[in-house]
Amino acid sequence: MHRRRVLVLGISGATWSVLDPLTRQGRLPHLESLRSRGMSAVALSDRAPGEAQYRPQVAWATAATGRTATNHGITRFFHEGRDLRVPTLWDYWLQAGLRVGVHGWPGTWPPKPCSGFIIPSHLARDERAWPPELARLRELEQRNRSAERRGLSPADVARSLRLLAELHRYGVRARTWAALPSLALRMAAGDSEKTALALRQVRLELATDVFIELCRRFQPSFRAFITFLVDFASHRYWRYYEPSRFTPEPAAPTPGLRRAVPDAYERVDRVLGRLLETVADDCIVLVVSEHGMAAEPDSTEVGSFRFVLRPESLASFASADASIAGCPIARWVAFRQPDGGDATALARLGATLSGMRLLSNGRPLLEVWDRDDEVVVRLAVAGAAGAQDDDAGAIVESNGRRTALGQLVRRLGRTRSAMHDEEGVAILAGPGVPRASARDVIRLVDLAPTLLTLAGLPVPPDLEGCALFEHAG
Ligand SMILES: [Zn+2]
Repeated sequence: MHRRRVLVLGISGATWSVLDPLTRQGRLPHLESLRSRGMSAVALSDRAPGEAQYRPQVAWATAATGRTATNHGITRFFHEGRDLRVPTLWDYWLQAGLRVGVHGWPGTWPPKPCSGFIIPSHLARDERAWPPELARLRELEQRNRSAERRGLSPADVARSLRLLAELHRYGVRARTWAALPSLALRMAAGDSEKTALALRQVRLELATDVFIELCRRFQPSFRAFITFLVDFASHRYWRYYEPSRFTPEPAAPTPGLRRAVPDAYERVDRVLGRLLETVADDCIVLVVSEHGMAAEPDSTEVGSFRFVLRPESLASFASADASIAGCPIARWVAFRQPDGGDATALARLGATLSGMRLLSNGRPLLEVWDRDDEVVVRLAVAGAAGAQDDDAGAIVESNGRRTALGQLVRRLGRTRSAMHDEEGVAILAGPGVPRASARDVIRLVDLAPTLLTLAGLPVPPDLEGCALFEHAG
């Protein structure tokens, strides 16, 4: 059978309710052109049994494996590659002796040695990548994320710029460099809301540059690039995109934030345009989101602001063993020890973190998951109710010691205003995909067998999804 290359662009959180009006306005030319030569569908997401939320790590694993959460083994946000019980799409390419290139797919950490490259997503615990020398690429992001939690200092900016200079040899374009001085100024001005957005916008440009360069070097038969910019912008700035859904109607503080959601889609559309330039016309192209997004007028988050945990301060207040490192994963922090470390120190830290209480109401500060070799924590919603908006005033107690909540968490922008929805997006084009103007409804789990079929690779009989089309000659 003739084998075809596959390109996947994953747009976390992309949803038709935004794509459709923007397409009508002619603002997403590349997505529109892809859709006109193939098919489009509502891609129904997947979630872990008993879960109310559609979680990205769970749903990306479903898309990658062609199996539902019940069977693939990823059921929580902080799960990682070793929890996955079944092969991924790109494992089948590797088994066929073909090269792969995967950038930003959740659940790929720690990356396994393979023929090609794997750059894990922002949910990774450290900067490891495959091949190992690509770790430098992820170091920048890891640093930015922990700096965001502490508050960015001029030293962070200087370090980031030094690392960026190194990225030169990974194909970072002059245009991307040109965006950096204004970003540095914004950081210096200390507007955390705008800085967080601007950092993610620049990261998308950097990641695209690097992905294209790595694809040029490795020429992978299966290539996938996942971006979380749309997801981030939608969670935070939907209130300005669809203000009538909120009471009182929010007014956007600046045009940048008012247009944050459509702007994210337009940026990702330009990325698609660049990626399409790098593949041949007979490449199978899939654009997919793991879940959709919808307004959340009454956020389940507590108070008017969202807080992120500060790993270093938490570890220090808990008198954690110096060898234990805390790694932020979205809202969570994973504490782990280097291999061969003292397991009792980690268990002690878990117990201490479980015991942290808010002095005002005696409620636990954290939700704690004790895993095999790591302790994962998140701010407890019930506990945070006592803190509300006044982070500086609340006091946390642990083993007779006290500290201000503001020492352990950092206020980072306003509460989210949109949340994941079941109806994601799929646009598919290439040989074997019929042109269809009517929008189909498919399941995320169907995508893996569909891509394998279209690419001319064998489909394992035990996949739960079904191929949507047959292989074209
Ligand atoms: Zn999200």
